[in-house]
Amino acid sequence: MVENKLVHSPLITYGSMLSLLSFTPPFVILMWYTNVHADGSILKTFNHLRENGLQGLIDIWPKPTAIAGKLIICYALFEAALQLLLPGKTVEGPISPTGHRPVYKANGMAAYAVTLITYISLWWFGIFNPAIVYDHLGEIFSTLIFGSLVFCVLLYIKGHVAPSSTDSGSSGNIIVDFYWGMELYPRIGKHFDIKVFTNCRFGMMSWAVLAVTYCIKQHEEYGRVSDSMLVNTILMLVYVTKFFWWEAGYWNTMDIAHDRAGFYICWGCLVWVPSIYTSPGMYLVKQPVNLGLQLSLYILVAGLLCIYINYDCDRQRQEFRRTNGKCTVWGKTPSKIVAAYTTTSGEKKTSLLLTSGWWGLARHFHYVPEILAAFFWSVPALFNHFIPYFYVIFLIILLLDRAKRDDDRCKAKYGKYWKLYCEKVPYRVIPGIY
Ligand code: NDP
Repeated sequence: MVENKLVHSPLITYGSMLSLLSFTPPFVILMWYTNVHADGSILKTFNHLRENGLQGLIDIWPKPTAIAGKLIICYALFEAALQLLLPGKTVEGPISPTGHRPVYKANGMAAYAVTLITYISLWWFGIFNPAIVYDHLGEIFSTLIFGSLVFCVLLYIKGHVAPSSTDSGSSGNIIVDFYWGMELYPRIGKHFDIKVFTNCRFGMMSWAVLAVTYCIKQHEEYGRVSDSMLVNTILMLVYVTKFFWWEAGYWNTMDIAHDRAGFYICWGCLVWVPSIYTSPGMYLVKQPVNLGLQLSLYILVAGLLCIYINYDCDRQRQEFRRTNGKCTVWGKTPSKIVAAYTTTSGEKKTSLLLTSGWWGLARHFHYVPEILAAFFWSVPALFNHFIPYFYVIFLIILLLDRAKRDDDRCKAKYGKYWKLYCEKVPYRVIPGIY
């Protein structure tokens, strides 16, 4: 078993790991309760907790139920079947520090299309009413919270007793191993990739499924879908469509190529994505806002532009790497650094670092349009309540920490070459500011 070489931000201490483990589940329930039962008002929820203390939290915490379990299992099995059975091109992921290269079947876009067409058809033909999902949302989140915790324990055990590849190992600390994970590429058999399932086919897919669910529920409740809900849903669906269009590219990013399968990433994708990432839409179901055509269009266009820029940043980096720098970036030959590094097995390798285009503005400029896009699908809720903006605030914290973690990792990997990149591109995220 190899040593688990993880680069942690100094911000991530054992204390913060434990507090994240214990605070995030109540957050999920309070998010649901505030949006669905407290008119979107954090103050109402806060007063309830102030008056009733811990018992108040226990009282509002929905119990996991059989119907919630059935809905989750049907959805998970359906997605797992699509992942295994739908055809797709064979693609390779990036080479890991131990020299292992994962191989995938790129069928994400097909799975996404089949999922949405099936879900909307079930509703259209009166076979299944998605409003049921909204009506049992609290129980679904509660079941997911406990079910995913069990899932993460199983991942931890699997990492110890039956790792799928050489990219696995223990740090020697049980909390670190559970929180950050043991395996980089856990699989069931040769073909079923667990992180593709948790991150993409369960987590990201649930975002689109729930966005559609919220629209249908609002239609059932008010007989129409408000323009604010339409703008929110269109932007979130375009974002998720972009994600699946580019899913094979996602397999080259930090989530898959660097973060191991533990509580942080897997629980986050199984529980936090469906509950917190979809929360602006969850808010709008019962608090619809009328924006008018002009404002709706302004927000929609601004959001689409941000999603496009975020996509183009990722595309630029991947096209540059795929062609070994033999491409054009903003119409010109790209400027680059040839960065040498040594793998954990002692092999000498080189990577190319792009220093022009979006990647010449700041080292993680792609997080700016990501955050702005999230703002634009939240702002249709206008400013009556804070809760629709919780996701944007969370995203800012997540991505600033991620930029720091990635910088630390790249500094450790590329040494003087990363220093050269930092001299050439001095800002971490926002050009001229940070
Ligand atoms: P990426 O993994 O795509 O990019 C960082 C990696 O790219 C680095 O680890 C390094 O890897 C390589 N790299 C760094 N600088 C350069 C350069 N100048 N030229 C070439 N390669 C470079 O980042 P993320 O995974 O953070 O982001 C991917 C996408 O996911 C983005 O669109 C982001 O906005 C989105 N995202 C969304 C989140 C959400 O919760 N909504 C959370 C996180 C990301 P190497 O070792 O290969 O050199």
